[in-house]
Amino acid sequence: MFKIPIKVSLNYSPNFSTYRRKSKYIKYLIYHYTGMSSESKAIKRLTDESSNVSSHYFIKKNGSIILMVPEPYEAWHAGKSHWKKEKFLNKKSIGIEIANKGHQFGYENFSNLQIKSLIKLSKYLIKKYKIKKSNVLGHSDIAFKRKKDPGEKFPWEYLSKKNISIWHKINEKKLRKLRKKKISNFEKAQFFKFLYKIGYSPKIKGKLEKSKLIKSFQRRFRQKLINTLIDQECLLIAKTLSKIN
Ligand SMILES: [Zn+2]
Repeated sequence: MFKIPIKVSLNYSPNFSTYRRKSKYIKYLIYHYTGMSSESKAIKRLTDESSNVSSHYFIKKNGSIILMVPEPYEAWHAGKSHWKKEKFLNKKSIGIEIANKGHQFGYENFSNLQIKSLIKLSKYLIKKYKIKKSNVLGHSDIAFKRKKDPGEKFPWEYLSKKNISIWHKINEKKLRKLRKKKISNFEKAQFFKFLYKIGYSPKIKGKLEKSKLIKSFQRRFRQKLINTLIDQECLLIAKTLSKIN
């Protein structure tokens, strides 16, 4: 019935929950970068029993795909996470790890071959489980206090053009005029309300967590400037996205 449209090699991970999920419970697609100094180290870790982490799929730099945990089983990729009313998204998601050194070891562009494979794999999974575009997320969206992946080099806008994830349709010229423009305290409060409406967790304590949330939003939706400052551009983007379901 649903046959995967690309070649996939197998390298099973022992790290998964052994109960079988019904396909109707799979509602989210979560993207990660591996954030390790080498691709082979990342593969080793995700398949090593003592690491307690895994992912359903792994996309190598050359675009080839490894299946590590079969879809009916819960892989351990997201950890403590929160989106809308959902907590611990591992239960209801498919995790895809994309090889990239990440912010810690030298964040690099994702390769064209990786993105090509990612699009094919995502389209297949979205169709198979009827995943909503607004439920295709990055690790940093659902765990912004701890995570930065897949980061600001991840091509979210391009994926939205392929009908995979959400994006806004505000033109760049308009956005550029609003960039770095100050906002009032009232608008600041509005900005956070829009974020919670989009799905980000409202459970934030103190300044540091607040700035992590702002950065996470920027890495996802305002990739041209990651600076923890809320400006008119951020406000308009958040407002526009808050209306998308
Ligand atoms: Zn991750």
